[in-house]
Amino acid sequence: AMAKLQQLDAYSWRLPREGGMRCDGVVYADAELVRALEGDGTLGQLRGVASLPGIQGPALAMPDAHQGYGFPIGGVGAFDPHEGVVSPGGVGYDINCGVRLLRSRLSAQELGEPRLIALADALAASVPAGVGAGGAHQLGDKELSRILEQGAAWAVGRGQGTAADLEFCEAGGALPGADSAAVSQRALQRGRGQAGSLGAGNHFIELAVVEEVYDQRAAEAFGLSQGLLVLWLHSGSRGLGHQVCDDYLKRLAKDPDALRPPDRQLIAAPPDSPVGRDYLAAMAAAANFAFNNRQLLAQACREVLGRVLGLGPAGLGLGLVYDVAHNVAKREKHQVEGKEKELIVHRKGATRALGPGHPELPGRYRAVGQPVLIPGDMGTASYVCVGTAAAMAHTFASAAHGAGRAMSRTQAKKAARGRDLRAELAARQVVVRAASGKTLAEEMPEAYKDVDQVVRVMHGAGIATLVARTKPLAVVKG
Ligand code: 5GP
Ligand code: MN
Ligand code: MN
Repeated sequence: AMAKLQQLDAYSWRLPREGGMRCDGVVYADAELVRALEGDGTLGQLRGVASLPGIQGPALAMPDAHQGYGFPIGGVGAFDPHEGVVSPGGVGYDINCGVRLLRSRLSAQELGEPRLIALADALAASVPAGVGAGGAHQLGDKELSRILEQGAAWAVGRGQGTAADLEFCEAGGALPGADSAAVSQRALQRGRGQAGSLGAGNHFIELAVVEEVYDQRAAEAFGLSQGLLVLWLHSGSRGLGHQVCDDYLKRLAKDPDALRPPDRQLIAAPPDSPVGRDYLAAMAAAANFAFNNRQLLAQACREVLGRVLGLGPAGLGLGLVYDVAHNVAKREKHQVEGKEKELIVHRKGATRALGPGHPELPGRYRAVGQPVLIPGDMGTASYVCVGTAAAMAHTFASAAHGAGRAMSRTQAKKAARGRDLRAELAARQVVVRAASGKTLAEEMPEAYKDVDQVVRVMHGAGIATLVARTKPLAVVKG
């Protein structure tokens, strides 16, 4: 039997190197969360990640970790760009799934329930959502390849947003090195009609109120204050990204340069092999489709709120707090044994969490650190945290990406049988609109871990500290 986790301190655990592992794993969790992840395949998957060549240890699991495809969701693996690997299972099917938070200039209390309902209805009516839903934009080949290369700047260049929006996106809203020629015709075909669409189930638009502020200074920098109405948006690269992942898993299965670990889901390639390079170029293209998608969605939200509330941009606000990816592999520079080194950092259901002073942060946040956006669930809460020097020293500047699933979709549907979830949410003062009834069951609050507990671990471990908690008011689910 493999060794168990060894507790390092209140919030972190060592998964000792053994067998084929090339480094330790480290898990951020409390005792209760550890029990949950010992019950699924998370630790075995973390051992698999730690066994990949060129890993810059440790392999990491965040407090929201659970079993995924290849890497655990909530997993982070950083690799040497030459000796290491890039793995589609370390990014996930929804390439650059991510979260965006916008702040309004409105007090949530003044809004009142009738207008919240009107907003939920208008958002649900105006934003294409659900599996396979078409987008607001039908694109020709030229425009689509421009999106894949420009990311969110494509939308901004067409009047859908401002330059400030780009400043407050991770990587400025576009990963470098994207190449639409590395994206298959089938993937392009799936993306053609989906720009500006939300996607299914776990993706959402949520109006929420800032109910508590823990870190005045960071909250002020992020433009957040108690009582403020904010808008969360969670979406990714839709069918295009999914197809890119699928295509490269298939190509890798036949490619002579592929590395085939015992867990076949961890199939990978050297980043500078032809297939590795092509995957990175296609992944960046899909990531840019997602950045642009969130930009178009944010702009659609601005229009809907403005129309329903009869407010212009100045009265409404809806400035971007931040946009962060949580399914991506990126070339980033990190301190390794006192020296700066370029690494390929896979964050699979994990959020970048840059600490104060990092040159990639917008000037307005430079002194406090990066907003770390942690959605919880549609009935409980979500958190804004801030990245730290400890994250840069210990987690390749990474933190959790949400509460993380506690139940599979099938388990959740079973647990929801015979219940009126809409009424349960209404009792919590949450208006909810879902593309399907199945979504409500799969996405009910108990289907997710306790977000309060997940952020307590991150705060306690010091990798992302608390800034503010928001409570959902109206949620439009995909
Ligand atoms: P994922 O990308 O892994 O599906 O989801 C990210 C996180 O979003 C989940 O782990 C969950 O905690 C959170 N989440 C899912 N649905 C909702 C929602 O409707 N509202 C909020 N605030 N969070 C959600
Ligand atoms: Mn996501
Ligand atoms: Mn997604």
